[in-house]
Amino acid sequence: MRKTLQWALGLASILLVAAHAQAAINVVTATEDLASLTREVGGDRVKVESLSRGYQDPHFVEAKPSFVLKLHACQLLVAVGRELEIGWLPPLITQSRNAKIQRGAEGYLDASLTAEILEIPTGDITRAMGDVHPQGNPHYWLDPGNGRRIAQAIQAKLAQLSPADASYFASRYADFDKRLAEAEKRWEAMMAPYRGLKIVTYHRSWPNLCKRFGLEVIGYVEPRPGIPPSPSHTLDLIKEMKAKNVKILLVEPYFDLKTPNSIGRETGAKVLVMPPSVGGEKEITDYIKLFDYDVSLLVSAIKEVGAK
Ligand SMILES: [Zn+2]
Repeated sequence: MRKTLQWALGLASILLVAAHAQAAINVVTATEDLASLTREVGGDRVKVESLSRGYQDPHFVEAKPSFVLKLHACQLLVAVGRELEIGWLPPLITQSRNAKIQRGAEGYLDASLTAEILEIPTGDITRAMGDVHPQGNPHYWLDPGNGRRIAQAIQAKLAQLSPADASYFASRYADFDKRLAEAEKRWEAMMAPYRGLKIVTYHRSWPNLCKRFGLEVIGYVEPRPGIPPSPSHTLDLIKEMKAKNVKILLVEPYFDLKTPNSIGRETGAKVLVMPPSVGGEKEITDYIKLFDYDVSLLVSAIKEVGAK
């Protein structure tokens, strides 16, 4: 009798756990940064998976068949937008045959809509020239202010999908906002001595980060976003870096180091591989840790080359 009771209690708790798991909102995100922000706000009421990995170039992610299955089963898709994922995500959304997450549906969240977007082109659309940023810079999550805006948009969307959990999401957001604000003070203090420092980056991944922390990007290894380096552009860049005494060259982990290294040799600049996303290095397990990692890396590189 006692055994039966124990068994029944055990079964009841399993069912309870199962019911709870079922209640969690199934979320798929395009990137690990968005997955981290969704976890911050969603807590245990969401089940989150990112399609791309943080060490991949988010413009060019190799689509796997499993992505379609994940998209088929989810209730919410959070995308970076601004055409960052245009090369791989739209066909997967179509193939998922999931009406809930099609563009414009309730379960599709474009995280860029409430973010501050830089470099919005005026006049002609530049895609014809190979530019992969035709709708403004899609690497906007690299300003913690935008991380806050994205988290807020996710909070509103989760509350819309699960109104019963709205206050839970609101308090999770408030807690994240507080921790982020404390971290921002720390990062600003670390970066404050280097305001106005001139740097070069491989791709246009860092305008939001540089604006936030007062760095000036004077050039790029790519002649245009998405276009590989050319000898004539590289020579011009080397000339400009020498003239402006640029000592830091930031490279995203997924680019070939051949051209950056030769620029480094010519100019004496330090080539710094810096991950732009959560998951870009093993210890970067969430959104706040991404800035902890990058700001420390940047500050020690600046100190090392004695730039200012
Ligand atoms: Zn880009």
